[in-house]
Amino acid sequence: MKSLVWEAPRVMNIRDHDKPTAAADEVVIRVAYVGICGSELSGYLGHNALRVPPLVMGHEFSGEIVEMGNQAAAVNPALGLGVGVTVNPLYCTADSVLQRRGLDQLCPSRRLIGAHRPGAYAEFVAVPAKTVTVLPKEMSLRTGALTEPTACGVRIAELAGDVNGQDCLIIGAGPIGLLALQTLKLSGAQRIFIADLDAERLAMGGALGAITLDPRAVDVVKTVQEATGLGVAVSLDAVGTAVTRRQCVSATMPTGTVLLSGLHEEVSEMPAADIIRREIVVRGSFSYSPANFAEAVELLNQDKIRLDPWIVEAPLADGGPWFDRLIDAPGNVSKVLLIP
Ligand SMILES: [Zn+2]
Repeated sequence: MKSLVWEAPRVMNIRDHDKPTAAADEVVIRVAYVGICGSELSGYLGHNALRVPPLVMGHEFSGEIVEMGNQAAAVNPALGLGVGVTVNPLYCTADSVLQRRGLDQLCPSRRLIGAHRPGAYAEFVAVPAKTVTVLPKEMSLRTGALTEPTACGVRIAELAGDVNGQDCLIIGAGPIGLLALQTLKLSGAQRIFIADLDAERLAMGGALGAITLDPRAVDVVKTVQEATGLGVAVSLDAVGTAVTRRQCVSATMPTGTVLLSGLHEEVSEMPAADIIRREIVVRGSFSYSPANFAEAVELLNQDKIRLDPWIVEAPLADGGPWFDRLIDAPGNVSKVLLIP
């Protein structure tokens, strides 16, 4: 089978691999659609310790089960040959107190398909049966491939707390920013301001109902403060630089919440005195819990979330050039779905 292999920073090639077979508690999926994730862009550049070349990435995907290990049906009775599925690529390999609290994503034993084991940038992928979610009958495989990033947006809205009738700010109009915009709206947020340096990305945020702020034309913090008086109740940094992290703190009202999800920089200086004096809550938001993942399937199935009309479909062989484009000049692309 053909796989798209990341071999060195900015180097990806199609290679021939043996088709995987299913271990007893695994299934093999014929991949239909597989998205490109922001974390994989930093992996591709070699900025991510989790990802070591040569590696087949790909963790946002859907497809059909084509082979079942002899224990797979016992692990997950909903599974069967030919069934349309998506996969929660984060799973635990050992029991922990966090897993018992429903926080598998924070479990020290967590593994990521497409980082710790081969992912879905290939015609076929083998995955543990327990990671597989059967898609509702009405849901297309194309929509199913959006579950994983949507679940990140569900997590952000969960950690944002009660935003009903409140104003919010999102910095970064990439896929996570656009999805969080929609999940925060579903939670009843009033006005959502969104900022991004890329005019086309910003326009997608505007089309999804946000008030757009071009940081080159306006002072983001001042504009938000003038519009809201005290600042927003919740701000989300979906970029992850010192500048955007600081902007989020400054634009947030006293007792408000700053959510950090962007991972551009590992370490940034933060205005601690301001956080203290205005009792700002700063918290991280990382991936999603199994419950968030299930809710993402529901929201997509109810057509409450969209990344269309800005989704681009491309053959797997064009993956390398798309990684370069998404890094250098993404433009009005909300998500690239590769088709093996
Ligand atoms: Zn992802």
